[in-house]
Amino acid sequence: MKPKPIVLVMAGHDPTGGAGIQADIEAIQAMGGHAISLITALTRQDTRSVHDFMAVDPAQLRQQANTLLHDCTPNAFKLGMLADPAIVSVAKELLEQYPQVPVILDPVLAGNLQGSLAKPHLLDALLTLLPYTTLLTPNIPELQAICAGTSMDQLFARGLKAMLIKGAHRRGAMIVNELVTAEGVMHRHEAIRLPGEFHGSGCTLASACACLLAQGLTLAEVAAKALHYTQDCLSRAFAIGHYQLIPGRQQ
Ligand code: PLP
Repeated sequence: MKPKPIVLVMAGHDPTGGAGIQADIEAIQAMGGHAISLITALTRQDTRSVHDFMAVDPAQLRQQANTLLHDCTPNAFKLGMLADPAIVSVAKELLEQYPQVPVILDPVLAGNLQGSLAKPHLLDALLTLLPYTTLLTPNIPELQAICAGTSMDQLFARGLKAMLIKGAHRRGAMIVNELVTAEGVMHRHEAIRLPGEFHGSGCTLASACACLLAQGLTLAEVAAKALHYTQDCLSRAFAIGHYQLIPGRQQ
């Protein structure tokens, strides 16, 4: 049997199963990979909002990572909710040890509707990961927060390779997602805006990207395939509560 690509995921737990680590594991499995995971935070949320969260102990997380990586070698890193600057430091230590391994950074700052998923100064800490990041996957509010006080060019100057900008927060019947590098917009992908609000679409997309990058696809192939898969998941979305729908990630 062909070996499965291994994706090391650092992400939070979302009890609804729509976003966070459960979304990541499901998307990575659907793309033919295996997720190994470090849980960064426990959140309290429903399908409407994040009520609060508790970040894990960074020292314990570092030990978990060291034990795991002594045994397993990842083919890609997927960084989701990192919650706290101290956890970003643990992530950075890991990335420094694997300069050849692609890194997908989903700059999670808030849930889709309401509620912060970030401790103070998280954004500044996330920027320190840019030199290691192959693909950043911000939505529009996240991109605005990241670019406040700097420019997109500066992000690339700090070492970022590429960005997949998710356009769902812009108005219009079509959603325009863009793959951007230091050279400018490489590809534009349009998707029909599906009715409803979704919980976990960003995690699904970023994890699919991570698993495809782990398999050696180009960034252009990764963006096209992962966006196509995510749109399929949203077209199969289902209700588990009263508010946002959960992507149907199993193909
Ligand atoms: N990570 C966790 C643990 C979350 O709970 C959430 C949202 O609630 C997210 C990430 C971001 O979710 P989305 O994929 O909807 O952007």
